[in-house]
Amino acid sequence: MTMHPDAAYDIVIIGTGAGGGTFARAIADSGLSVLVLDRGDFIPRERENWDTAEVFAKRRYLANDTWYDADDQPFSPYTHYCVGGNTKVYGAALLRLREHDFGDVRHHGGVSPAWPVGYDDFEPWYTLAERMYSVHGLRGADPTEPRASSPYPHPPLVPEERIGGLMNDLRTAGYRPFPPPIGVRLSERDGAAAPVRLANFDGYPDPTETKADSHVVGLRPAAGHRNVTILTRALVERLVSDPSGRDVSAVVVQKDGERMVFRARVVVLAAGAVNSAALLLRSADAHHPRGLANSSDQVGRNYMSHHNGVLIAVTDEPNPSVFQKYLAMADFYRGGPGSELPLGLVQLMGKPDLGTLAWARGDALPGFALEDIAARTLDFFLSAEDLPDPRNRVTLRNDGSIRVSVRPNNLGAYERLERATMDAVTEAEAVRGRRAPTYLRARLGISAVSHQNGTLRFGVDSRTSVLDVYCKAHDLDNLYVVDASFFPSCGAVNPSLTIMANALRVADHLRRRLGCAGAALNHNHVSEAAAC
Ligand SMILES: Cc1cc2nc3c(=O)[nH]c(=O)nc-3n(C[C@H](O)[C@H](O)[C@H](O)COP(=O)(O)OP(=O)(O)OC[C@H]3O[C@@H](n4cnc5c(N)ncnc54)[C@H](O)[C@@H]3O)c2cc1C
Repeated sequence: MTMHPDAAYDIVIIGTGAGGGTFARAIADSGLSVLVLDRGDFIPRERENWDTAEVFAKRRYLANDTWYDADDQPFSPYTHYCVGGNTKVYGAALLRLREHDFGDVRHHGGVSPAWPVGYDDFEPWYTLAERMYSVHGLRGADPTEPRASSPYPHPPLVPEERIGGLMNDLRTAGYRPFPPPIGVRLSERDGAAAPVRLANFDGYPDPTETKADSHVVGLRPAAGHRNVTILTRALVERLVSDPSGRDVSAVVVQKDGERMVFRARVVVLAAGAVNSAALLLRSADAHHPRGLANSSDQVGRNYMSHHNGVLIAVTDEPNPSVFQKYLAMADFYRGGPGSELPLGLVQLMGKPDLGTLAWARGDALPGFALEDIAARTLDFFLSAEDLPDPRNRVTLRNDGSIRVSVRPNNLGAYERLERATMDAVTEAEAVRGRRAPTYLRARLGISAVSHQNGTLRFGVDSRTSVLDVYCKAHDLDNLYVVDASFFPSCGAVNPSLTIMANALRVADHLRRRLGCAGAALNHNHVSEAAAC
């Protein structure tokens, strides 16, 4: 084991995704010495970024990892170990949780518990995150949208013709579709720049770097500061606590076959909800026999990942849309036909590849060529809330590998959401006298961990939560967590904007706590990244 020559830092950040990348940017100009570690490397900007076969069939950018379910069955998690984490391939739909999501909400499957802070505590950080990630949207169009202190930084994307028509038809049928807020670095203010045409998006890295991901928006500007060091291919194996057990005294890293040790005044963990919990469990020691920060026995529990699925409407009308992500519907967010309880969120996704379509199709539509079907689909992504359950948890197997045990709950909401969406699309198609579409339906299974959250929840009571309200571990004085694991419940909107906003909130708290330069975080510290 070697001690790195520059082994002592004020802050060591573990992970560069939505949480870690955003946090790095927010602390970079503080003057503190910062070391950023990620087990992955930079994804090269290469032709294969947009090669569907490479990205999906050959899994070129996916983590080469195996996790196990409750029955010890192995699965390949759909997750990415790279600089920028999963934001490198995300769909950049950046929505705020709704105000009521911060309170107790009754669902078909139980109660979604309240957060220890309210929406008002998050609002300024949502505003800052929207600016930093160049969000394009339209305030007031989403009927469940929470209060916001400023307009979106950019106007909404202009839909392609088929989707613009669908939007109008849904409105005629009585629904309230809206343009989903999307984080993209367009050059719309530069009259001399060629327009950007968005295309391959969900699941693809973006070689044009138009997608506002945590590498381009977070880490790269952070790396421009001399006090920030980035080490890639640096797998954090364990955290070691000091003799008092109150501080993390060392971060043990495996890099290119060599073991290194770093010291930090403060450790900021952002390895993703599953890996962060696993790392704390692996770091058990005499002071923390059940795992670091685990006196409550809550580390790894309450794993959530939304009930997500695809609903593909095969219509008579061709859909030549290239990008497609112009429409979302929250009409069923707080309830729906025959249900006073929440169902979830509907949004169009990037055009799926033929493999995804074949999977969703199953045995449906025999006799039709897949390409013919693909030319006529409207492709929806549905999300219903997954409720925290302590039995749904991340644990370690005897060989140290990760087990994710899940007993799905609240599926009644997902099923009703699917039904309500099919009815809405059928009604919209009928507006122009079109036949009811054929629907292909598939709910994502355990390997779909892209919305993973909740394994280290924050709260005021150290017996029932792992982190305090500023996401510092109750049990340790210098360990913070800024990835999706802090969620005590997850609403039904995509998680990233909330992770980013929280990372900014925690960075502000730490800047003040450490008394660093320009202590309070504001727009000047994390101004919008320049458009490409
Ligand atoms: C295809 C796809 C589409 C998506 N679309 C959207 C969307 O439209 N909107 C939205 O809000 N969300 C979307 N998501 C989800 C979003 O990407 C995640 O919620 C978000 O990235 C999670 O942020 P995080 O910081 O918790 O973790 P991650 O982004 O997963 O980052 C974790 C980082 O930690 C690193 N790491 C892990 N373990 C270690 C270790 N032991 N040592 C060192 N480094 C480690 C990883 O390499 C990674 O870089 C999508 C995800 C996918 C996969």
